[in-house]
Amino acid sequence: MTTTVQHLVGGEWTGDPVRERHNPARPGEVAVRAPAGDKSTVDAALSAAEHARRAWAATPAPARGAILLDAADLLRSRHETVAADLVREEGKTLAEARGEVRRAIDVLRYFGSHGWQRTGGVFPSGTPGTSVFTRPEPLGVVGLITPWNFPIAIPAWKLAPALVSGNTVVLKPAELTPASATHLAAALVESGLPAGVLNVVHGKGSVLGAALAADERVRAVSFTGSTEVGLRLHRTLSARRARVQLEMGGKNAYLVLDDADPAVAARTVAAGAFGLTGQACTATSRVYCTPGIRDEFVAALVKEAERFSPGDGLEDDAVMGPVVSSDQLSADLAAIGRAREQGATIATGGTADGPFLPATVLTDVDHEHDVARHEVFGPVVAVIPADGYDEGLALVNDSSYGLTAGLCTRDLALAHHFAEHAEAGVVKVNRPTTGLDLNVPFGGVKDSSSNTFREQGPAAADFYTWSKTIYLGHDRG
Ligand code: NAD
Repeated sequence: MTTTVQHLVGGEWTGDPVRERHNPARPGEVAVRAPAGDKSTVDAALSAAEHARRAWAATPAPARGAILLDAADLLRSRHETVAADLVREEGKTLAEARGEVRRAIDVLRYFGSHGWQRTGGVFPSGTPGTSVFTRPEPLGVVGLITPWNFPIAIPAWKLAPALVSGNTVVLKPAELTPASATHLAAALVESGLPAGVLNVVHGKGSVLGAALAADERVRAVSFTGSTEVGLRLHRTLSARRARVQLEMGGKNAYLVLDDADPAVAARTVAAGAFGLTGQACTATSRVYCTPGIRDEFVAALVKEAERFSPGDGLEDDAVMGPVVSSDQLSADLAAIGRAREQGATIATGGTADGPFLPATVLTDVDHEHDVARHEVFGPVVAVIPADGYDEGLALVNDSSYGLTAGLCTRDLALAHHFAEHAEAGVVKVNRPTTGLDLNVPFGGVKDSSSNTFREQGPAAADFYTWSKTIYLGHDRG
């Protein structure tokens, strides 16, 4: 089954679907046909967004929110179709895709109700007869650039706060996954979103994303993707003083201490490392282990890994989907090969069968090896020795990244110490590094993030608004 998508520009669906995206689990099957936009597509989308800007900003926030709530209902009625398309273009399992579509629906509901809640502040004034208050103002036209690994949830958690706050949007979804974001856009348009308020352009990131970032009409860009691309965008946007939010790569660490239950630790690490085929920015990819638990933990982790049998996400028995693309698979295999050259042992997995890479556990890894330092965006986890808690914490923190970090222990004092001292935007004790509620701030530190504005929850709207301070004098004469 093939889905055809188009650009959304000024309320019109346009563009010849000349590009094909194949189903990663069935390489011969065309999953999506999409257009390949160029700079002129971005220019038209920006003109439409600029044209729609004032009227949308003047629309009451509850009315903007009502459209999001209707879109949530519409998406709910299409849940199965959208989830199946997501599997066909991205590869995750149907259960994972259903969960992701559900997340997008819930995000629309959450920010839809936000239309009634967003407030400024009221301040005492030192001048008699004077009221002072603030109003959150929209930024104007914003650009959203999103990756393939959460092809509907990430567009939703950027779009929803942007729209309810009164901004108009040009969204550039990842080339590999044009359909999921288009389903989201269609639900919003069919729920009454005025023409030009949301525009979606498909095509190469290096052309469309770069054109968005460079255009003076774009007042802010929220980007999720690789650190390399993010840092390049940061230079362009900062040079013209546009607001920028970057959520980027990770090398997320877990520390397993002697007092942990090895089976529970293995289950927690495996869920974080191999769920979503390890293709999550928050995936666990290095595990530091103290000597007393190491052997039992590794044996339990290998057993857990072997439960994640890869397969076609649309088939019932697949616990883990394929790797998203042949380029990504080559990069994963190259990282495993390099780890072996540097002395690692493959405890399980390590070789691919077509697009399917089994959950892979590497042992005998040193903290200085490449596989412990660089992101591998796949189902690969490295187990590395640590003498004890203090050395483990130091090794967790010795990374250029800082997205998530985890600790398995029953020691409450160490749990608190870790929560305080782990250098990561999200710290999880006795829980997988992946998975966050939609109402909590999400983002990283160091090279994982611009570390300016957080995504999700009430904090998300801060990025899409600025605060105006108003003085009202009321002398009676
Ligand atoms: P990517 O950086 O290749 O692409 C992300 C987006 O940027 C895509 O839409 C792409 O088309 C666009 N793009 C590519 N080149 C561009 C350029 N020169 N200018 C502007 N835009 C450009 O990343 P990806 O491969 O889609 O996603 C995987 C990466 O995303 C991993 O590193 C992962 O850790 C990261 N990620 C981070 C988070 C987070 O919240 N921190 C979440 C998901 C994924």
